[in-house]
Amino acid sequence: MTEEKKKDKYSFDCLEKECGNRVCCTRPIVTVTIDDISRWTNQQLLSHIMHAITIHTPESETDLFRIETKRQPLKADPDKSACFLFNEESNTCTIRYSRPISCRTFPLEFTGDRYILSNKECAGIGRGKPSKESLEEARDLAEQEYREKMSTVSALPGVYSLFTLQMIEQSAKAMEGLSEEDRQSIQEIMSRGDSSESAPESPAEDAD
Ligand code: SF4
Repeated sequence: MTEEKKKDKYSFDCLEKECGNRVCCTRPIVTVTIDDISRWTNQQLLSHIMHAITIHTPESETDLFRIETKRQPLKADPDKSACFLFNEESNTCTIRYSRPISCRTFPLEFTGDRYILSNKECAGIGRGKPSKESLEEARDLAEQEYREKMSTVSALPGVYSLFTLQMIEQSAKAMEGLSEEDRQSIQEIMSRGDSSESAPESPAEDAD
């Protein structure tokens, strides 16, 4: 008799503050979507969260724009870092009640054609009872995260350029309002900055 291969079923139940490794908070990138920002705006939370998020601009031709949380070194292991919104003392996420969708779907991820576990170290994997309903719910959320991530990636370069252009225009307008004397002072300060960057600060530095 052929032994039927038993298929693993996905089940998940987060240990929250009882979790020993918090790999959800220490994973290298915690992405945020425009929908997350829109939800925080509607919940009047954005001003409390803004300081913790940033726009990553592409560093190579294959890199993409994204919104992500800032990082902070772990007190227990300063060589490692965690999401800026992770509270190490209480072992909690400070915005758990409205955390980014990438955290709500973690560790399940949809890649566009299949579901993967983005981190097998998550202690919540295999906990709880596997059921058709919970699997469907987890898959729907992973697909929603994928859609939100894709629309953020496509909208972000345009939004970023628009804001950059606006800032340049505002700076140019502010410069127009300055007197000739003020403008010259600013140019002097800026040229001093340039020369201090290129010149060695002391003869001792020159000796090397
Ligand atoms: S999502 Fe996983 S790693 Fe994060 S707290 Fe829950 S069980 Fe721990």
